[in-house]
Amino acid sequence: MSAKGSNVRVFVRFRPTANFAQDTINLGEDNKTIDIHIKKDEKFGVVNNQRSDWSFKVDGFLHNASQDSVYNAAAEPVVSKVLDGYNGTIMCYGQTGAGKTFTTTGATGNYKLRGIIPRVLQQVFKEIEERSEQSVTVRVSYLEIYNETLFDLLSTLPDVPAPDTQMTIVDDAQGVSVKGLSIHHASSEEDAMNLLFEGETNRIIGSHILNKNSSRSHCIFTIHLESHSRTLSNAKYTISKMNLVDLAGSERLGKTGSEGQILKEAAYINKSLTFLEQAIIALADRRRDHIPFRQSKLTYALKDSLGGNCNTVLVANVYGEAAQISETLSTLRFASRMKCIPAESVVIEHYDPVRVAKNLAKEIAHLKQELAIHDTLANRTNVSYEPFNESQIGEINTQVRRYLDGNLHEIDIINIRQIQEVCSQFKIILSQQEQEVEARLRQKYTLIDRNDYVAIAAAQKVGMGNLWIT
Ligand code: ADP
Ligand code: MG
Repeated sequence: MSAKGSNVRVFVRFRPTANFAQDTINLGEDNKTIDIHIKKDEKFGVVNNQRSDWSFKVDGFLHNASQDSVYNAAAEPVVSKVLDGYNGTIMCYGQTGAGKTFTTTGATGNYKLRGIIPRVLQQVFKEIEERSEQSVTVRVSYLEIYNETLFDLLSTLPDVPAPDTQMTIVDDAQGVSVKGLSIHHASSEEDAMNLLFEGETNRIIGSHILNKNSSRSHCIFTIHLESHSRTLSNAKYTISKMNLVDLAGSERLGKTGSEGQILKEAAYINKSLTFLEQAIIALADRRRDHIPFRQSKLTYALKDSLGGNCNTVLVANVYGEAAQISETLSTLRFASRMKCIPAESVVIEHYDPVRVAKNLAKEIAHLKQELAIHDTLANRTNVSYEPFNESQIGEINTQVRRYLDGNLHEIDIINIRQIQEVCSQFKIILSQQEQEVEARLRQKYTLIDRNDYVAIAAAQKVGMGNLWIT
């Protein structure tokens, strides 16, 4: 998946129904091609119904698929890579009710029906235990974006997540992060699950108290990993993150004549999903170098999670029923655009400065021992390789002056540090001598700039003999 030239992977998950539109939706035997055919007399709310046939290619269908098989297809390969230091994102897109939350979080209270996030946490901690050579710290954050406002679902202050005016999205050398968003250490799967539950609870409480419609908000659960080698001499470490994104319902709300709060929500959600779509179109076009990430909080927060240096998987959640075909078409269109985004992930290695310094100190001690042996073999005694103090530098300065005056025949070479100090003392003495010469000349002559014609002419007029034109 991280091989060069790969793209975002896209799966289509159908919500189970007894009324699957078999005549309209044809799932190819290759498990990758979806053909949609709308008969002339059927409209299904497809507004611009000039076309009647569409064909989409994806990486796989998840039809009548268990939570287990969805996880294995869409998430499992990404999670292993995150532990190797590659960023990963799994994102669910689709109309409200199509199964995005069922896919990401799952049905609480039923172990078999748990979604991708609990399974990711399980796999992360299982792999950490298996990787005895790695020491991995796990931290978790949970962000909700509602009407262009950021909410911390794990805010530890009150039970109710309040919009935090302090929270801003920042993009620096470390990548994109949300300043002010709380990040919580999880030392076990149980710890992490408790954080997920706390976030889910806050999501529900917040939606009641602030009268939010949860289908209109975007939720990003992030697992932050930092992996150091257990071998202390290995200073290399990796930082990676796994984003699990439950997007707001993608249905086009404009048509329904919404009012007031709903209209505002509709505008925000349509806007952020439209901006997401624009960013995706730009990302898929390799000739584009500007991607409009900053247009909305959602695209900005996901800037380094949509392809590029990230293993990204999209689960497109759809209803397979005839009445929903219009939304299904729009979801599939979005999905096929996502599939065109190149995703060539690389591990970004960091170096622990404390370990680097320790390693260097060890190396220096070792090289000093080597030098001592060389000196002994060459019958050189009492050679110091330490940096010079001031009085030693003064001695070298005197030595160089005596050499220049002819009172010393030659300067013995002791070591490289001493040669460098001799050279720098040469330089200091030379520049001091130049200054002395110039000062003497200034006393004798009047200095005039060669470009200062007025001054030269004036001086010539009075016939000054001791002119020095520089
Ligand atoms: P969304 O988050 O996209 O709005 P939900 O995940 O809340 O949709 O799903 C709506 C309802 O359908 C929920 O009651 C959920 O349990 C159910 N559901 C969705 N997908 C499935 C599925 N694959 N199997 C069983 N139930 C599902
Ligand atoms: Mg939902």
